[in-house]
Amino acid sequence: MPVRLPFRPRRDTYPPDLWTKCPGCAEMLFNKQLDKTLRVCPNCGHHFRISAKARIEQLVDGGSFVERDADLTPVDALGFVDLKAYPDRLMAAQLATGLRDAAMWGLAAMGSKPISMCVMDFGFIGGSMGSVVGEKVARAGEAAIAERIPLLIVSSSGGARMQEGTYSLMQLAKTMSVVERVKAARVPFISVMTDPTTGGVFASFAAVGDVNLAEPNALIRFAGDRVSAGTIGEELPPEYALAEFWMSHGFVDRIVPRAKLRDEIITLLGFLVAPSNGHAESAPSPTSRPRSFLNALTGALSSDGNGDQNRGEAGNG
Ligand SMILES: [Zn+2]
Repeated sequence: MPVRLPFRPRRDTYPPDLWTKCPGCAEMLFNKQLDKTLRVCPNCGHHFRISAKARIEQLVDGGSFVERDADLTPVDALGFVDLKAYPDRLMAAQLATGLRDAAMWGLAAMGSKPISMCVMDFGFIGGSMGSVVGEKVARAGEAAIAERIPLLIVSSSGGARMQEGTYSLMQLAKTMSVVERVKAARVPFISVMTDPTTGGVFASFAAVGDVNLAEPNALIRFAGDRVSAGTIGEELPPEYALAEFWMSHGFVDRIVPRAKLRDEIITLLGFLVAPSNGHAESAPSPTSRPRSFLNALTGALSSDGNGDQNRGEAGNG
């Protein structure tokens, strides 16, 4: 007859989905608690990377997001094999994320204002931009032009997808040509750079919003330290790749903690979108953009005690 112990055996291991160790402060964080704080460490403020779905849920009016082109699927045009064949890599990422590729786009509302949005997912092959991601960014921009509603892009990407080679590099030109048409149509474009926004995504649409927002401490850069230092022939300060550095150099307009991001974007939409009652006088006149628009924005935002007077010159790349 087996011996029955009066107590349960000690658990040396816990289910991995219960706790997360914060890379910022090494604190063990209870996942349910972390979800309540939008996956920001309550101890040190570290912003964890989140999926495109979670990002959309955090930002838009509840239930307003209607996804478009969810079944757009990448193809292995080059027969690319690195450590794994590209189709195998895609399938693993699709199973892990439930997405067909590293971005979701669709129409939604924020503060009851309609927007066209595209959100990238770092969990899908590093949020890399191949032909599908580029196409989704482009379609989000085209819908914004067609509907005359603001474009919101949330970037989270390691850059171009090397498995698609030149096709991936061509997305830089494709996305930028759409962004240029968005600007020519005087449709507002808000870009949100989250950790990380690097490579071809930083080098194309991510840094050229009418307003560029970033999450605190987000890694933002084009190339790695060694390449960057080699290109300009001098060592870079260790903090150069963080959002705060880009803000102090005018590429980022505002650093916004995740908990305030939705409200911040809604406030910006209030400045950028004319009221729907058809009164045209509150819309910026064509000759006044972008200079006086940004000045007005700076003035209005600095009244909350957070503004930076130097931002008026920045933001439009
Ligand atoms: Zn922490």
